[in-house]
Amino acid sequence: MARFNAKRWEECQEPERMFEFLLETRRLTERKVRLFASAWLRIIGSGCADKTTLAAFFHSTESWAEGEIKEEEFNEQTYSFDPPADFPEPYRNLLDRLDSYAGDLEAGLEERIATGTDMTSQPAAVIVALPVLMREMFGNPFVLASFNPDWGTPTVVSLIDAAYQNRNILTGYFDQARLAILADALEEAGCTEAGLLAHLRQGGPHMLGCWAMDVLSAYEC
Ligand SMILES: [Zn+2]
Repeated sequence: MARFNAKRWEECQEPERMFEFLLETRRLTERKVRLFASAWLRIIGSGCADKTTLAAFFHSTESWAEGEIKEEEFNEQTYSFDPPADFPEPYRNLLDRLDSYAGDLEAGLEERIATGTDMTSQPAAVIVALPVLMREMFGNPFVLASFNPDWGTPTVVSLIDAAYQNRNILTGYFDQARLAILADALEEAGCTEAGLLAHLRQGGPHMLGCWAMDVLSAYEC
């Protein structure tokens, strides 16, 4: 099978191959894998009627991923969590799903990729969604972008802060209009990273761990 390059990465529809590549090239940080698992479960549960209960759960998972709460606190907050009745099978056991990605990072993922138990056996809709989410969270490994401090004008910095503070409380998604305005401000500040600007302007959902927002926040992607 052909090796990945920038174009093949953008077009790839095989999540297990993408995961394998991210593993091999050591791009799966603990934070990112936790945010990925959380974002994926958010998408799977997006059709549930009780969005408030789910939002509280995902607030905990994201706080844990970001290191804002300790593991014990996370366990306390989520241990007895009961997902809404309409949360799709076979994903109802949210904590097991999170653990399978975030618990034993490399060994866990490698085993799952090797056996195909957690990827290729997924329903078709999920297989389609996974590559899109991977590109949202990990970007394109062949197109590197970094934050140039010159772009950090007061306007840009305040727009980045506002984007984080105004994520949709129920879905956790960034506000698309705000990201587009942020892209304009970056361009005005001299940013010429076409991929970064295009990503901020393209339709989301953009979720916590979005590679472009991570670049802007100076996180390691
Ligand atoms: Zn994004």
